Amino acid sequence: MTIMAQNKCRADQVDRTFREHIAWTSDHPIGLEVTYAAGPFIQLSDGTEVIDLISGIAVSSIGHRHPRVLHAIREQIERHLHVMVYGEFVQQSQVAFANLLTDQLPDTLQVVYYTMSGTEANEGALKLAKKFTGRRKMIAFEGSYHGDTHGSLSVTGRRVYRDPFEPLLPDVQFLPFGDLEALHAIDDRTACVITEPIQGEGGVIVPDTGWIRALRERCSEVGALLIFDEIQTGFGRTGTLFAFEGFGVVPDIITLAKAMAGGMPLGAFVSSAEIMASFRTDPPLSHVTTFGGHPVSCAAARAALEVILEESLTARSGEVGRRVRTALEGRPHVREVRGRGAMLGLALDGRQVTQSIVDACLKQGVLLGWTLHSNDLIRIAPPLNIPFSVLEDALAIMISVLDDVTIRPIPEAE
Ligand code: PMP
Repeated sequence: MTIMAQNKCRADQVDRTFREHIAWTSDHPIGLEVTYAAGPFIQLSDGTEVIDLISGIAVSSIGHRHPRVLHAIREQIERHLHVMVYGEFVQQSQVAFANLLTDQLPDTLQVVYYTMSGTEANEGALKLAKKFTGRRKMIAFEGSYHGDTHGSLSVTGRRVYRDPFEPLLPDVQFLPFGDLEALHAIDDRTACVITEPIQGEGGVIVPDTGWIRALRERCSEVGALLIFDEIQTGFGRTGTLFAFEGFGVVPDIITLAKAMAGGMPLGAFVSSAEIMASFRTDPPLSHVTTFGGHPVSCAAARAALEVILEESLTARSGEVGRRVRTALEGRPHVREVRGRGAMLGLALDGRQVTQSIVDACLKQGVLLGWTLHSNDLIRIAPPLNIPFSVLEDALAIMISVLDDVTIRPIPEAE
């Protein structure tokens, strides 16, 4: 067999296994076969390279395989991997990262509970709020996304995702995001209000600062805990290290994941010593996890945060955003470029246009994405340290696609 024939055979085999043995989450996965990734580039099995403008959905904020992260991982695997369920042993990499992380946070957010993922961080935060307040009612917002396990799904503001799994948690009320009047529904039965400070999957929606402040005040007034889900907005994505800083309010609990560990799986919810103490007793071990705060992920997270701080990537996030806006605002099909920092959404004139543009950009080597709740919005979330020359190349491709794209009709069933 020639090498080409062997390669073809291997490709068919991989394709068949992907189709038959890997669970799909839709009938149309993007299906790119990745062989390598570094910085802002992902290399594919056909030898081509794409510029990653979505960072694995706001995960690879310092690019793929950052050398500092790789070094930290190597050092940690020489020491130890998993040794004990979370919370029992003193593990140096967990402690060192918590130290650096809490140095960046206000006095009331100083105790870190590590998880493995974003949804698990939200699960913990919701349970913590119930345990601390003794209340049960939860408030969330229409258009929100908090994850796909039962608790997080219960507070996710899109019926189409909740309905197939009802009954979910009882006593959850959804309010319109950004509506001042609606905040009266937060009352002295409310354990917590959970919100993304900037909605991601809902379509990159930045609320008024006045509204976020009123939300904070209302929660304090009635003794409800305010949970900010910063899983997507955290770690410099919006031009400040955490989005709450940009609004000048501090939540009672913050949840984190995604970009936290430079491409490794890690999440956390962070609160005050007083609130977090509710998990210690009545009963002890009322919230435990085996792999939360995996030592390798924590070592990676410390390196990733050091990179963000040392290279001032929060400020760079703003500059990345400005360049994207300048290049794309007012182009054909573009209704609006919205967002904050390098968490951006390109609102287009319809679903068919969006799909055609995403497809055409991918063919020309630029990877863009959708958001879960929105059909006419392209997500742009480049690595915060993307070299400006690479960003300009990607934007030039996007501009030429916007100028020339042929809109492909999408069959209704798709
Ligand atoms: N909250 C927000 C705001 C998110 O964007 C996501 C992931 N898209 C999650 C929670 C869930 O995180 P994970 O996929 O790690 O469970």
